[in-house]
Amino acid sequence: MQIDWPTIQTGRADTSHGATADISGWMIPLDPQAHTVDYFLLSADEPCCGGCVPRNPLTSIEVYMAAPLVPQAEPLALRGRLVRLLDDPAGWRYRLVDAVPLDRPQTPPRRFSRRAFLASGAALGLTACAPGHFAGYTEAHDETAPTAQTAHSAQSAQSDSAPKWQAPAGTLTIDMHSHGGRVIVSRNPAIGANRPFIPLAAPMRAGGMNVICLAIVTDTTVTRVADNRKRFEAWREPQPGELYALGQTEFVRAHQLIEREQLRVVTNTASLSTLGPLGPCAIISAEGADFLEGQVDRVDEAYTQHQLRHLQLTHYRVNELGDIQTEPPVHGGLTDVGVQVVQRCNALGIVVDVAHGTYDLVKRAADTTTKPLVLSHSALATHPGARSRLITPDHARVIAGTGGVIGVWPSSGTFHDLHAMAEGVKRMADVVGVEHVGLGTDMLGFISPPVFRSYRQLPDLASALVLAGFSQAEVAAVLEGNYRRVFEASVA
Ligand SMILES: [Zn+2]
Ligand SMILES: [Zn+2]
Repeated sequence: MQIDWPTIQTGRADTSHGATADISGWMIPLDPQAHTVDYFLLSADEPCCGGCVPRNPLTSIEVYMAAPLVPQAEPLALRGRLVRLLDDPAGWRYRLVDAVPLDRPQTPPRRFSRRAFLASGAALGLTACAPGHFAGYTEAHDETAPTAQTAHSAQSAQSDSAPKWQAPAGTLTIDMHSHGGRVIVSRNPAIGANRPFIPLAAPMRAGGMNVICLAIVTDTTVTRVADNRKRFEAWREPQPGELYALGQTEFVRAHQLIEREQLRVVTNTASLSTLGPLGPCAIISAEGADFLEGQVDRVDEAYTQHQLRHLQLTHYRVNELGDIQTEPPVHGGLTDVGVQVVQRCNALGIVVDVAHGTYDLVKRAADTTTKPLVLSHSALATHPGARSRLITPDHARVIAGTGGVIGVWPSSGTFHDLHAMAEGVKRMADVVGVEHVGLGTDMLGFISPPVFRSYRQLPDLASALVLAGFSQAEVAAVLEGNYRRVFEASVA
């Protein structure tokens, strides 16, 4: 049967639950970099740009295709099974499953003139529609902007003649910092926790990524993009209880994503070795301990109630635990509360991550911890500028001195392609030893597209590491063994 948009918008389509339905609309892919998509939104209205998601969930439906489709700007007609959604975490009301394209798309009832919009001069790039924007990276929470020449140049490292990495039997691959699936709530309060998830398990499977540290962020409501989209900053003081509540929302959202994507949760050494090889797994992580609001006993609560096993002390706010790289120091490094949190993490079995912390914070954390430290996402610089997220060789050596591991990130501001990133991994290994280097993709965390932006690129990255001079066993150490060693030492 033909379903029109008024039927969707009024909820009358509820009576067609389970029926085969034809519907026309505009495709809104949620992964704008994908060459083909098997999941997207179908909208009643033409989007103003490639990534705007309608504010009203009743003006679009979720679509799962029977086979992947090339993204298209023209309206399309689909036939599939209509499913009514109850309590969908993202707020969607209907889903079309096993959808196939029909030959003759019909023009949907309403049309927003994209050309007129563009001609009006209002659409000067993605920021023109930033308040409702999902796709791309404009709502990301993290990190610095790329240099101009590098933003879109993630090239395949793999050709027929390129050396390949052959994962030794039993090797797991681990990403120590990820916001995959769009786990983070939107900065736009109109969307917030109703932000649609995007597929996570499928790209992990396709690229052979076994385990990700899935990081919530608990300062989003008080941080914003500053300096012409170059960086993030805290712009107001949180209300008492605000960031604790945000943390609760984010933990719930992480578990909704895990359930939706059928990920397995790794909570200890035993589950890492039994579940890791079976398929996509998550280690529940938090980027920034802002949700603690300085209350150390909330570490225990997060451990028991939300399965937190990896905690990054600071993010884009100078919080109760210590100083950050992107703001002038206030505390002189790690605070006494920060010391207590590190001790509590050591005692409970939570990996301590000092990414974003100042060199002074890292030094006191290293003096405090009885377990190896993680610095999950950064890269080396001899002389990092003010507010830089990069680290000096000495900063890196402090982590290595604890037996820890540093995740090299794929920031396009640091590396222009996967080969350059592999060379960056090599430079880090030359400074601290290959046993102290890992991968921290910060998936969906960058303002601008990084050079590693889909788990489907993992074979290309592994190949680039081999080309950069790593042995097969060393690639295995970087992609798995080093973080695994720290996790097992920390979590038991
Ligand atoms: Zn970060
Ligand atoms: Zn991040």
